[in-house]
Amino acid sequence: MTVLHFSTYVIKKLFQKPATHLYPIKKQKFFERTRGHVAIDIDACIFCGMCSRKCPTGAIGVDRTAKQWDIERLKCIQCSCCVEVCPKKCLSMENAYTAPSEGSVKDVFHARVPDNQPDR
Ligand code: SF4
Ligand code: SF4
Repeated sequence: MTVLHFSTYVIKKLFQKPATHLYPIKKQKFFERTRGHVAIDIDACIFCGMCSRKCPTGAIGVDRTAKQWDIERLKCIQCSCCVEVCPKKCLSMENAYTAPSEGSVKDVFHARVPDNQPDR
């Protein structure tokens, strides 16, 4: 590359818009089939623990007694393995990514207590 080519290239780049977005400040538009994060229909979950056993990163926790399902979002690698093994098909991949964070991001879900049963 000659000096002239190099100078032209540098000047052109100085006045171009950046190729990257100011994420997460500027919202990204996700593709329809992006594997962003795991979602759960907690009312359909039977707390069998299959998703937790198959998760390669140990991101999912299942407590059958407390009827609790949780996921550490930033441990998840979006492999979709949990979605495939769930016998109740209550897991799915949604396309938005979890927002970046310096710490862990844990989402906890509890089964709803039926109206005719007292809270524990
Ligand atoms: S595999 Fe499905 S039904 Fe079983 S605990 Fe996980 S989400 Fe619930
Ligand atoms: S998508 Fe993969 S890594 Fe994420 S929770 Fe499911 S099994 Fe674990």
